[in-house]
Amino acid sequence: MEYAQEVLAKSGKLKGRRIRDKRFVDSVTCAYYKGTGVDPKYGNMSRCPICGASGQIKVNPPVVTCRKCFGTGREGGDLSCLACKGVGVVSVSQEAGTCPACKGTGEAGIFYCTTCKGQGIA
Ligand SMILES: [Zn+2]
Ligand SMILES: [Zn+2]
Ligand SMILES: [Zn+2]
Repeated sequence: MEYAQEVLAKSGKLKGRRIRDKRFVDSVTCAYYKGTGVDPKYGNMSRCPICGASGQIKVNPPVVTCRKCFGTGREGGDLSCLACKGVGVVSVSQEAGTCPACKGTGEAGIFYCTTCKGQGIA
């Protein structure tokens, strides 16, 4: 439950166009099954397709919380988020700033901005 609150707090911060905080970590808790690595409904029968049931995922720092899924790793229920591949964060470059292609909105028509993968940061 703590995790859900953390996500809510973060998603609240995502509103507006300011640059989100970069985190300098080389692994993150997998968002897809909230770090448990298995589907809570099916237990050990169902390993997480994102982290392979380890609950942790190696990333290239710095990373920012995924703007598309607000760090949940999911889009529309059980589908993994295309932008972060279910991880809940995306890697950005050290010098990353507001994406010049979409001006930080992360959007391009009905799709997400390919320059920043919908993150608003590139
Ligand atoms: Zn996982
Ligand atoms: Zn995502
Ligand atoms: Zn963009």
